[in-house]
Amino acid sequence: MAAADRVPVLTSPGLVSIVVPFHNEAANVTVLHERLGAVLDDAGESWELVCVNDGSRDDTLARLVALAARDPRVRVIDLSRNFGKEAALTAGLDFARGDAVIPLDADLQDPPEVIPALIAKWREGYEVVNAVRKSREGDGPVKRATAHAFYRVINRMSQVDIPADTGDFRLMSRPAVEALRRLPERRRFMKGLFAWVGFRTATIFYDRAPRHAGTTTWNYWKLWNFAIEGITSFSSAPLRLASYLGFSISILAFIYAAITIFNKLVYGNPVKGYPSLLVAVLFLGGVQLLALGVIGEYLGRLYEESKQRPIYLVRAVWEGQDQPAPVRH
Ligand code: UDP
Ligand code: MG
Repeated sequence: MAAADRVPVLTSPGLVSIVVPFHNEAANVTVLHERLGAVLDDAGESWELVCVNDGSRDDTLARLVALAARDPRVRVIDLSRNFGKEAALTAGLDFARGDAVIPLDADLQDPPEVIPALIAKWREGYEVVNAVRKSREGDGPVKRATAHAFYRVINRMSQVDIPADTGDFRLMSRPAVEALRRLPERRRFMKGLFAWVGFRTATIFYDRAPRHAGTTTWNYWKLWNFAIEGITSFSSAPLRLASYLGFSISILAFIYAAITIFNKLVYGNPVKGYPSLLVAVLFLGGVQLLALGVIGEYLGRLYEESKQRPIYLVRAVWEGQDQPAPVRH
């Protein structure tokens, strides 16, 4: 982008909000705070840390509350149960007050040391700064390959361009955050939503680190569901695929019928019955169930959206003291 396109958005330095979802991350609380503090204080930023406790079952909450009591810049949003990372992040974005908001993983896979580079781009006038992983050192070869395949498929299928190897780690300026908050969907495929809002976007590259402590709560089944979530949230191509599949099969059936009739009339071959019949019936049954399943995926999502349930529920909020503050929704 030419420099003339960019309008510096801020004259004052501005407040930076770091939003972190925590799900059983007790071992990472202190380290995260220390490393963030070191980086941001060195850079002379004014910042706040919005911690969302997403139904942790270890002592993550106790540690976060202790942290909030020590450091008034830390706020703790305790959700009523585990709502999942995407909902926790949504809660964090709602509660963040900064002029720029940076979502970060609690496990330090997104190194806080990269934040000054994000902020620098923002001060240049970009409204969104994506952090793209240079390497996936922390991930095994299978995860790398599946991630690569996922981005290829979803970008083919959807109109929104979802940048590859970009997690939730990025900087969003206040206008971008407000835009994101206007998206009402219950099922939140964050990567897609981030991309959907657009805005002037810059990209920086960083090395993704291995997890600092604890274990990931993701497994391949969850990742698979996550991929389906992404595709159904951002593309209706699978529905169209069902029509094309049906159409192709009808043509094949027509050709097969013609061949059978031709064989019978011209060569007097007996019509082969049972095996071909069974194959056709099973095949068609399979295809029909598949199409029905695809429709079901979309219908289920429609049903969930129509219920209009809140994305998350807050049990308590702690700000700068060890007593919970009144919850505002
Ligand atoms: N997380 C969450 N709720 C969940 C699962 C995960 O808030 O139900 C948080 C987790 O604490 C971490 C971030 O989401 O801060 C990323 O999770 P994880 O490291 O397990 O995922 P990965 O890095 O393997 O994609
Ligand atoms: Mg992680």
